[in-house]
Amino acid sequence: MISKRMEKIIESGAAMAGLFTAGDRLAKRFGAENVYNFSIGNPNVPAPESVKDTIIDLAQNMPEQALHSYTKPEGIPDVRKRIAEHDRKKFDVDLSEKNIFMVAGAAAGLNAIFLTLLDEGDEVIVPTPYFGEYKSYALSCGAEIVEVPTQPETFELDAREIRKAITRRTKIVLINTPNNPTGVIYSEESLRDLADVLNEKNNDLGIDITLVSDEPYRDLAYAGARVPYIPKFYDNTIISYSFSKSLSLPGERIGYVTIPDSVTNFTEISAGMVTACRVLFVNAPSLIQRVAAVCIQDECDVEYYARNRDAIYEGLKEIGYECVVPQGAFYLWLKTPIENDFEFAKKAEDYQIVVVPGSAFKGPGYVRVSFCVSHETILAALPKFKELFDDIRAGR
Ligand code: PLP
Repeated sequence: MISKRMEKIIESGAAMAGLFTAGDRLAKRFGAENVYNFSIGNPNVPAPESVKDTIIDLAQNMPEQALHSYTKPEGIPDVRKRIAEHDRKKFDVDLSEKNIFMVAGAAAGLNAIFLTLLDEGDEVIVPTPYFGEYKSYALSCGAEIVEVPTQPETFELDAREIRKAITRRTKIVLINTPNNPTGVIYSEESLRDLADVLNEKNNDLGIDITLVSDEPYRDLAYAGARVPYIPKFYDNTIISYSFSKSLSLPGERIGYVTIPDSVTNFTEISAGMVTACRVLFVNAPSLIQRVAAVCIQDECDVEYYARNRDAIYEGLKEIGYECVVPQGAFYLWLKTPIENDFEFAKKAEDYQIVVVPGSAFKGPGYVRVSFCVSHETILAALPKFKELFDDIRAGR
């Protein structure tokens, strides 16, 4: 028998699993080359050349045993030092090796943070819409996700809604910026409001809420937008970052968690993180840690995504669709011209278009359009999006 906890995790994912498989279904129906698949969140630009060069250099020049040996659970000291040095300069903050924990991607980072902080029955507040996997991560620690709405139309954080949801059981507020699925980068103003609410509630209730910021898309920001560095707004903040998107390395499983000195009970929490990385074995592989340290200043072709973003946003707006301007990540959040997002996504399939119903992210009335696809796919799909729109408007 599987555990009750695993039953709950499977159950929470099962309802949504089918929503991400329409691409395969349509490929069988029309042939893969005839499907405009905007449902997948996988980087489609290559990793920078420096990644391949570094892998070759390490493989050729580093003693094999050292290269492939177990690392400390929290990562290789020199790698942590290099990353701390990089972020210290980039964000103008005080960081050193002890603040950086190498993990197998942002998802691994979140799981380690949750195992470190959460007890049975604790609550994790998450603004909607959100990346559905968070629920599984919380359930695996026996904790609950508490969903709160973001602001209508803009999908900015709504500090008043978060205030209403905080109880004595609130341990974590989990945010994701730039956001999957909306593409919104939370503004400095909304982060200041959030910090005020958290400080106020900590004082009133005698609790100590940790703000966890999930940032796998931090380096994908467009039109000069900048992603605020969250610990500057609220001291008790932990960040989970990843190289999956910035270096286009999702399958290599590499990222890091930043726990600044300002985090409450820093010493205990860092020790907890080391233990979590050890017992969950979510620490990052040795070779790719070293690659990340060498390539941290490089990035994949973000301009490619920027061009896609302009083409899809402008193209859809011109047709008449209402969309949120994607400020970051590679997702466009489109308001469905019929109320029911499931119905809209199903109807889009008749036009060989695959999008994900917003309800999969607890954002009904919208669909997520991933623009990490070839530029040609976007250009070819726009006339199909127009046919779909015109037919809906004409009641066909
Ligand atoms: N968080 C969000 C919001 C994501 O969209 C993803 C992956 O797409 C992840 C976490 C997991 O990223 P990683 O590959 O770094 O584990």
